[in-house]
Amino acid sequence: MSLGIYISVPFCRSKCTYCNFASGVFSASQMGRYVERVAEDIKWLRGHADGLGAVIPETVDSIYMGGGTPSLLPPDELKKLFFVLRQEFKVLPKTEVTVECAPGTLTDQVIQALATRGVNRVSLGVQSFVDQEAASVARLHTREKTLSDIERLRKAGISNINVDLIAGLPHQTRESWEYSLEQAIATGVPHVSVYMLEVDEDSRLGRELIAGGTRYHAHFVPDDDLTAEFYETACDRLNAAGVEQYEISNFARAGFESRHNLKYWTRQPYLGFGVDAHSMLPSRREQAESVRLATTDDYDRFFVAADFKASAVSAEQALEERFFLGLRLNRGVDMGRVRQEFGDVVTKFRASIDELVEDGLLIRSGENLRLTNRGRLLSNEVFGRFIAEERLST
Ligand code: SF4
Repeated sequence: MSLGIYISVPFCRSKCTYCNFASGVFSASQMGRYVERVAEDIKWLRGHADGLGAVIPETVDSIYMGGGTPSLLPPDELKKLFFVLRQEFKVLPKTEVTVECAPGTLTDQVIQALATRGVNRVSLGVQSFVDQEAASVARLHTREKTLSDIERLRKAGISNINVDLIAGLPHQTRESWEYSLEQAIATGVPHVSVYMLEVDEDSRLGRELIAGGTRYHAHFVPDDDLTAEFYETACDRLNAAGVEQYEISNFARAGFESRHNLKYWTRQPYLGFGVDAHSMLPSRREQAESVRLATTDDYDRFFVAADFKASAVSAEQALEERFFLGLRLNRGVDMGRVRQEFGDVVTKFRASIDELVEDGLLIRSGENLRLTNRGRLLSNEVFGRFIAEERLST
């Protein structure tokens, strides 16, 4: 099985108010130092995987540079990363190579660097085609800029483009959300991701919403019911336009599903480099099913030395993941295959599955198990039922 490689690039032009990632605004010299450090880790890990109890597959068939805003990296730094990756790994000819970009950061030099380094997929953090909504969360681009970036990418030969949208932004209304969806469809891009605004203490907007304040346009954020309605509208409009839902937040025209992200949901091996990067690799040791590696989320600590924290994944945990990751996909989980992989232990979930089917959150047809539309909206509740009680309480 081939490997997916993720590289985290934690640099942004400005900090979006809803952002809960480990990212920030840094100078170009910091970026060079960071790329050096990531390159050292890429070289280091090959020789140390054994000691971490992990097996690194021979070949690579997906690379994903995310963040942050990797398109902010100076073109030479981008090239350096791709050079080291190709030096250390056997990257297969038809590898899917994705780079996340913010509209407005794609200079001609960056587009050229992407196109000449084998990047064949770009994910654009658009969030909204309504300028007021984008500006209210500190995004710096306009609709016009987004449309022109899409055209320029296509001219450079990169037409496999994803557009990210967020349901629940400040000032969003039914009409403006319909407008953003129409615009995304009209661009003809083959992939759209739709996320619902997350409200948590790790973002400025989230904290303000929890506190009931008015900073960051918090009092213009639609309520949960309306945001849920936006999500359902997105499913309807995108499916009707042939950009079909294949995962809770992801929609694609046939053949354009994200190969890299599918690895996460189907538990195929992936390896992450950079700040706050995660890996899941086959285990070298019999007592574990696989091994997870995680790097620090502390930017300063990242520079100290290579530091991959390894934790073993037991067969029981792997089985739980198989359910709650697989159920994210519209095609659901094939119980026959799960039984083949994990044996009769699957029966321990029978009662939970029966209950979820009765509650209208899961559909069972033959051996196939998948979320209903309502189940997709309440997916966290569904997934929680597949995680062992003892782990939830720790
Ligand atoms: S561009 Fe992405 S990572 Fe950067 S601040 Fe905005 S949401 Fe966060």
